[in-house]
Amino acid sequence: MFNYFKTIYKVGKALIQGMMVTWKSFWQPAVTVQFPDEKLNTPERFRGALTFDKETCTACNLCIKACPTACISLEPAVDPATKKRIAKVSWYQIDFGKCNYCRLCEEACPTKPIKSVRHTHQYEWGMLERKEMLVKWERMIPSTEPLTSTNMKPI
Ligand code: SF4
Ligand code: SF4
Repeated sequence: MFNYFKTIYKVGKALIQGMMVTWKSFWQPAVTVQFPDEKLNTPERFRGALTFDKETCTACNLCIKACPTACISLEPAVDPATKKRIAKVSWYQIDFGKCNYCRLCEEACPTKPIKSVRHTHQYEWGMLERKEMLVKWERMIPSTEPLTSTNMKPI
């Protein structure tokens, strides 16, 4: 009989303790972000989707050497008159299916004041197909806009 009431006491005490946590949280400000109506403020060094500036890239290959997943490829441009390689890219491609968002390519890129390959704060993008993860920039495309899910140029 004693154990019966002891158990009821323990259960009641645990229930009140749990409800006290609920009661305190009930009066705290809500922390849930109502996405997509509300957006998160990303930290300054947030590593979102990579973007690429084909006009400033010198085709130096340093980003390719720094990339641990070998997901970057490029082709240097050639001067049509001399047939010699020039410090520009013809095309540049990132396989986002392999990219781990480590920023090593951006850190290796020597262009100043803005890196030719760099992370954006863009986190709202996704792909439905594997081939959409291959994003290619070509110099003949007149666009230096920041990367968005609509202006990327998949091959
Ligand atoms: S963020 Fe890392 S994995 Fe992705 S392309 Fe740059 S170096 Fe490669
Ligand atoms: S993105 Fe930067 S590191 Fe990569 S090839 Fe162009 S200039 Fe060199």
